[in-house]
Amino acid sequence: MAEIKGGIGVEVDHIFPVIKKWLYSEKEIFLREIVSNACDAVTKLRRLISLGEDAARDIPDEGFKVTVELDRDARTITVTDNGIGMTEEEVQKYICQIALSGALDFVQKYDKEGSADTGIIGHFGLGFYSAFMVSSKVEVLTHSYTGAPAVKMECDDAGSYVIDTEYVGAPERGTAVVMHISEEGEEYLNSSELRRILNKYCAFMPVEIYFDDGEKEAEGEDDEKKAAAPKPVNDTAPLWLKNPSDCSDEEYKEFYRKVFNDYREPLFWIHLKADYPLNFRGILYFPRINSEFESIEGQVKLYYNQVFVADNIKEVIPEYLLMLKGVLDCPELPLNVSRSYLQDSVYVKKIANHITKKVSDKLSAMFNADRSTYEEKWNDIKTFVEYGALRDRKFYDRVSSCILYPKCGGGFCTLDEYLENAKEKHENKVYYACDETAQAGYIQMFEKEGIEVLLLRHIIDTQFVQMVENVREGVKFCRVDSELADSMKGDGTQEVEGAADIFKAVVPEGTEIVFEALKDEALPAVLNVSEESRRMEDMMKLYSAQGAGVPSFPVESKLILNSSCPTIKALPDMEKEKAELTAKQIYDLCLITQNKMDPEKLKSFLSDCYRILTMI
Ligand code: ADP
Repeated sequence: MAEIKGGIGVEVDHIFPVIKKWLYSEKEIFLREIVSNACDAVTKLRRLISLGEDAARDIPDEGFKVTVELDRDARTITVTDNGIGMTEEEVQKYICQIALSGALDFVQKYDKEGSADTGIIGHFGLGFYSAFMVSSKVEVLTHSYTGAPAVKMECDDAGSYVIDTEYVGAPERGTAVVMHISEEGEEYLNSSELRRILNKYCAFMPVEIYFDDGEKEAEGEDDEKKAAAPKPVNDTAPLWLKNPSDCSDEEYKEFYRKVFNDYREPLFWIHLKADYPLNFRGILYFPRINSEFESIEGQVKLYYNQVFVADNIKEVIPEYLLMLKGVLDCPELPLNVSRSYLQDSVYVKKIANHITKKVSDKLSAMFNADRSTYEEKWNDIKTFVEYGALRDRKFYDRVSSCILYPKCGGGFCTLDEYLENAKEKHENKVYYACDETAQAGYIQMFEKEGIEVLLLRHIIDTQFVQMVENVREGVKFCRVDSELADSMKGDGTQEVEGAADIFKAVVPEGTEIVFEALKDEALPAVLNVSEESRRMEDMMKLYSAQGAGVPSFPVESKLILNSSCPTIKALPDMEKEKAELTAKQIYDLCLITQNKMDPEKLKSFLSDCYRILTMI
């Protein structure tokens, strides 16, 4: 037997231990690496056939496949392909030298960057040598399509190898990689685990992959089942590679169900297809969100030429898109990348821009095509759009004209529509409420004046409104309890002498007391809180919801006494006790409209009410 012995060079002492301990949780990618090499070998041969290469000319372009076989007794996992195979020189060159130097580069980089920041590197290829994360020995049995003699190469986990150049047991054409599983790889000698890994990483690889779990069929097994042709574990032509015009809605939905195990229908989707120089494909789905409390965690799967790389890589996908579900296949993404590389990559930025543009185009198209359908979907997409707009100014600019604002009492409008309606009465001012019940009194005051009130009741709205104000110069959002609209005020402001002093005795210190002659004479007083300080308070609450302690923050409030209201006018002439009781009632009623009654205050309010009843 002709035998060549070798050692994989001085670095070996260094590389194997590192590979073995390397990113413990990522060990499972060994299977992806070996199976994707097998698929590549088939793809290469098919290319040679299509080019009419001499040695490949007579090979029929069919029957290509990759098999993954588990043999628990022998403790092996074998990946076999019928692709190009390798000659002895190729084994020497590609496996023993080049593959190793690739792995070496990788390990050096890993060492340099330190383990803390290697998350993303772990997702990319370590190639053939990743087999040693789980194997004590790997055999490569290979037979080149050229007809050159078959070769067997055997490499142990100390890095020494033996090549047998007269081997007879290799596949007729192609390569078998036999991994002898070590104790570190014990968990992979399990068919459901292997199935899970194949499903995760290999579901869309371009060559049919069959899994043989090594289980013998039980006696008397259903004949039909026995006769059924085995099914590949993968879909070699994933939907994202097809032409959007050739895909039906049902296909998109089916793909969504299968890939994300989500049986709710997606709201809509965007098929991405960017050609040179970006050259990537993908489908993004807008998931249906059942309630506002449901956490919106999407899943965007990143592929490299149909090989799954990882979920939700935020360096590649704009953060706000991580709320969506989808697949992106980026064959131009360089392998062996580091996190910092991706953060600075111009290519990655261009992908993000392209996606932003496509998403905003889709939103505008839906908005323009069918407003009422768009409105129906709005509650589901609102958080996504607002979050995206907050995160990315460019995205906001693109979608601002199709952002909908719900109105108290129902219906939606855009900001421009609102401002257009408000032009005469309250130019550039947007009135809103955040709780239709608690603020009903205020809302009614505005609606009486024919002023539209928006309903912004989500946590994100405070930040969103702030951002819109920064971008749209001059536009100001005011909550209904923060100020009176000019049109509510009558002519002239008259102080009712003595009234302020009576109130001072019953309102908390620091409350500003002013007079205004309101058109609505029945209303004795209105309590306003400053928009700015209330927003600060909202923000504080938001932080405290995220775990930080919330410092008490004084909210500036202003009590507006209505000088046209008979009760206020009469106050100074009342006897002291009655005047104070009345003032306290009026103030308490204001607190009720603000929904700011604590239990103590409520108790005292009720006992005052009972006292008043005795006076009637
Ligand atoms: P990469 O796949 O990134 O090039 P690998 O270490 O995985 O690095 O593989 C090194 C080389 O070995 C491949 O480029 C290929 O030339 C060769 N090779 C590996 N597996 C096979 C296979 N199943 N059939 C043919 N050639 C293979």
